[in-house]
Amino acid sequence: MRFTCALLLTLLVFVSIQAQSLKPPKEAVMDRFLRYVKIDTQSAEDQNTVPSTKKQFDLANLLAKELKEIGAQNVRVSEFAIVYATVPGNLADNASVPVIGFIAHMDTSPAVSGANVNPIIHKNYQGGDIVLPKDPTQVITVAGSPVLKELIGDDIITADGTTLLGSDDKSGCAEIMTMIDTLMQNPQIKHGTIAIAFTPDEEVGGGIEKFDIKGFGAKFAYTVDGEELGDISNETWSARTATVTFKGKSTHPGTAKGIMVNAMYAAGDYLSRFPKDMLPETTADRVGFVHPYAGVIDVEESSLKILLRDFDLSGLDAKEKMLRDMVTQTQAKFPEVKIAIDVKEDYKNMKEVLKDFPALTENALEASRRAGIKPFIKPIRGGTDGARLTFQGLPTPNLFTGGSNFHGKLEFNSRRGLEKTTEMLINLVQLFAAKK
Ligand SMILES: [Zn+2]
Repeated sequence: MRFTCALLLTLLVFVSIQAQSLKPPKEAVMDRFLRYVKIDTQSAEDQNTVPSTKKQFDLANLLAKELKEIGAQNVRVSEFAIVYATVPGNLADNASVPVIGFIAHMDTSPAVSGANVNPIIHKNYQGGDIVLPKDPTQVITVAGSPVLKELIGDDIITADGTTLLGSDDKSGCAEIMTMIDTLMQNPQIKHGTIAIAFTPDEEVGGGIEKFDIKGFGAKFAYTVDGEELGDISNETWSARTATVTFKGKSTHPGTAKGIMVNAMYAAGDYLSRFPKDMLPETTADRVGFVHPYAGVIDVEESSLKILLRDFDLSGLDAKEKMLRDMVTQTQAKFPEVKIAIDVKEDYKNMKEVLKDFPALTENALEASRRAGIKPFIKPIRGGTDGARLTFQGLPTPNLFTGGSNFHGKLEFNSRRGLEKTTEMLINLVQLFAAKK
């Protein structure tokens, strides 16, 4: 009975808000997005500093300035180029609703240039492949991006073929900003306190280490960094990295008889033992893999680096055992080579924690439906900043942004993608307020 009442109340709140037409934000999400993608924020691998590139401060400082202009509070940029802000709740009792955080990253992938991005709007898309004008070899095909079929009549935004677009994750930045802007224009939309953060170096995995969870002040958060409309992730896989070293004995080859022990052959034998159906090139969806991805080949000492990935910890343990068993087998064949294996944990599947906070996923699904989007849950074959935060005490699933083809020149998003994601975010804060 109590449940029915709560449900009815939620529905009434929803219907009454929908019935009033919302005042538009001061600036459309599309216009914000087009401004942000023109700012080069490419991060760089193997740097000892956060941010890895100083230019990420350009967008951080701009976002901080704009946050102040639209009325956010406690706006600050940390020495690591992380932007933090708060949007105060407007409920009679804000303390009764958990503080919800929203996070997007400002950097773009080191894989493709993000300098001089020239966004192009393909108005009223009528289907078919999209050839990017500055490099006709760069073609977004319907076969490669079937989501295009759902974008007929939409305005599609791409780069010109020479750079990435930076939808990943300037879409998330623009959508969160426009959510705040809309809330400020419409005080009739009830919500609790909202914490905001824009982070650097997500693409190189360094920025989140400097994240101040306590200062952020949220009980739960969402990264807004996913792909097509409806794509919600509460699951990453669990990840370990193994290093296998093979120690031999080098000597002058002219006088090596009976002395030299060539470690390279043991490394080759070890590689030959990898099951062909358990590799990245032969697996997809929920199936994990082992992946030798780098190594050193040398007579004296050879070494291999191997990624282990699986959605289940038991599956990951089994893969680790397999790699250790392979060491035993190679060792038996090459008794004079000293073989050692060292396995380190990279990150764990965030589902291990998020399963205890089902409302986070349920509210995200419901907020999407209310925006007219059919949501679906897709496990991420990779790690997210949210996975790291989740294990540090801030449960953080990942939400869609409307974008596609991340990290490449064929990246795109659309007007509807940006607008519907913003709408979903606005629905989400209302859901938390209504379900208190
Ligand atoms: Zn991203």
